[in-house]
Amino acid sequence: MKPPAIDALLSVQSHDMRHGALDKQIAEGPRVLAGADAKIAAEKKAFEDKKTALNALERERADLRTRRRTLEDKLTKYRTQQAEVRKNDEYQALTKEIEQGEAEKGAMESEELELLFKIDEAGAALGEEKKAHEAQLAVLQDEKNRLAAQLKEFETERAAEAAAYEKARAAAPADWLKIYDQVKTQGKRGPWVVPLKDQMCGGCHIRSSSASVQNADGKPVFCGNCGRIVYVDA
Ligand SMILES: [Zn+2]
Repeated sequence: MKPPAIDALLSVQSHDMRHGALDKQIAEGPRVLAGADAKIAAEKKAFEDKKTALNALERERADLRTRRRTLEDKLTKYRTQQAEVRKNDEYQALTKEIEQGEAEKGAMESEELELLFKIDEAGAALGEEKKAHEAQLAVLQDEKNRLAAQLKEFETERAAEAAAYEKARAAAPADWLKIYDQVKTQGKRGPWVVPLKDQMCGGCHIRSSSASVQNADGKPVFCGNCGRIVYVDA
């Protein structure tokens, strides 16, 4: 027979352990939420980095265009000068400048064209990725909301468990409760009140002859190995 005090302790233990588990999960809450925030931030940053890379290409192109236009103005000036010079050597010098400038302008135009392709490609890729990015952000935000809601539920449940724990303690015999608290302070993991099956302790799973239980005298019996309170569930 399981003494009634064991039932009272099992109720205390059940609320005790659930309360402890909730404490742990609530304590981890800030870290879990920060992890969710970090995922969101990383997703945003990866997309922003791509936008920044595209902007850099556009700036590069604008800069190149400005330099090409400056060169074109210079070439126009050379051609005007060339039409006005009288001396042959001056004419030749300007021809050389114009030839060099034209070659430079050609190289710039090729470079601009290449940049333009790159910009088009990057822009198209970004457009494609925008949808995937937004979908992923929504998934991550949902995940964060779910975790936050779960945490709130844990907090509500913890308050209820704390109350139920106190109520269960009030209903348990004081002497057994004292022993329960002592077993707990020995640093074993819960459960601290465990069934004994075929002389095997439900806490440490070691067969122990010293833990044969009658509970006849209504006193707590302990596992000879781990010291947990044992009972025969019959
Ligand atoms: Zn044991």
